[in-house]
Amino acid sequence: MATHNLAIIGSGPAGYTAAIYAARANLAPTLFTGLQAGGQLTTTTEVENYPGFPEGIMGPELMTRFEHQATRFGTVLKQGCEVTSVKRDGAGFLVSWTDHYQATEEKEHFHAVIIATGASARYLGLPGEKEFLDGTGKKTGLTACATCDGAFFKNVEVAVIGGGDTACEEASFLTKFASKVYLIHRRDSLRASKIMAERALKNPKIQPIWNKTLSNYHTNAKGKLEAVTLLDTVNAQETRLDLSGVFMAIGHTPNTKFLRDSGLHFDENGYIEVERGCRTNIPGLFAAGDVRDHDYRQAVTAAGMGCMAALESERYLGSLGHH
Ligand code: FAD
Ligand code: NAP
Repeated sequence: MATHNLAIIGSGPAGYTAAIYAARANLAPTLFTGLQAGGQLTTTTEVENYPGFPEGIMGPELMTRFEHQATRFGTVLKQGCEVTSVKRDGAGFLVSWTDHYQATEEKEHFHAVIIATGASARYLGLPGEKEFLDGTGKKTGLTACATCDGAFFKNVEVAVIGGGDTACEEASFLTKFASKVYLIHRRDSLRASKIMAERALKNPKIQPIWNKTLSNYHTNAKGKLEAVTLLDTVNAQETRLDLSGVFMAIGHTPNTKFLRDSGLHFDENGYIEVERGCRTNIPGLFAAGDVRDHDYRQAVTAAGMGCMAALESERYLGSLGHH
């Protein structure tokens, strides 16, 4: 089996930035897009804080630009390919993946690997939630993506769960469609940045519900959401709230499950532990973006880490005489 220079796993800002730098260094990297090509920003509307776009730019368009810049310099894109394991094999790594377009299982050998698999939306873990998630938000009324599903909730009442930037952004966006948006938060103050919080709370269509979380979903005969049970986090009282949609915005879990047997070190929340320059505990294995960062979680910081990981991998390959 031939050994390739560099695998980049993930097609968010971290993965594509790593690919731009590695491709320009003539490493001909192979980038696995995973099932969410473009990463988390493809689920949002306008990105107002990515430098270089003073008027803002739509998330999906920004990520299409990242992709074009990476392929322009010779990145090999593996579309629809989800990596299932990364294992040490001699001095390099055996990367296995499922090609969901071709319905095949494949593997190749690489000298170095950059993990940029980001993070996935979290749910509450309530009874029946899994069944909801097997359907689309349109069908069931439960989703974590207002951009994807918001338009299905015209002139009805919906709720966003959470108190961070995502919750505020989703709630503001949903007011374009819904007649009312409840912003349900488990505490009495938002975690979101000041500007996002103010924007949401000033919107007359958004009604905050403080100190509450959900304890149950209620569906109609067609399996579509018609109400939730609210649980008061202070006095434990339960009340019913009629609505047609719930948009979950309670944070994310790092996508590291497929790395269980890799020998990597993780922190208590599953984020990959790194040293200076995106290096992990395993030489030749680098980690960039939200998969290793529970603190900043921004497109620009993910992109910055992608750059660092690519430069580190170039040095690493050079030190082994592969480049
Ligand atoms: P991600 O963007 O999460 O990309 C991960 C990639 O890994 C995906 O392509 C996925 O398909 C791939 N992947 C996962 N598992 C595998 C696997 N096993 N094999 C192959 N590929 C895999 N940040 C801002 O700076 N500004 C904003 O305005 C902003 N708005 C946001 C709005 C929303 C709704 C959300 C959820 C986040 C927002 N963020 C924003 C945060 C920002 O999107 C993230 O910080 C950033 O996308 C992280 O980039 P990443 O490359 O680390 O990972
Ligand atoms: P977050 O900041 O982690 O906020 C998650 C929210 O969900 C918190 O308010 C948390 O409550 C609540 N929560 C968590 N678990 C819960 C549970 N089990 N039950 C009920 N509530 C729960 O996540 P995020 O809002 O997705 O933001 C992630 C990152 O992306 C942040 O760094 C953010 O700045 C960034 N982002 C930026 C933008 C932007 O700049 N335009 C937009 C979106 C996201 P507590 O507050 O009580 O912990």
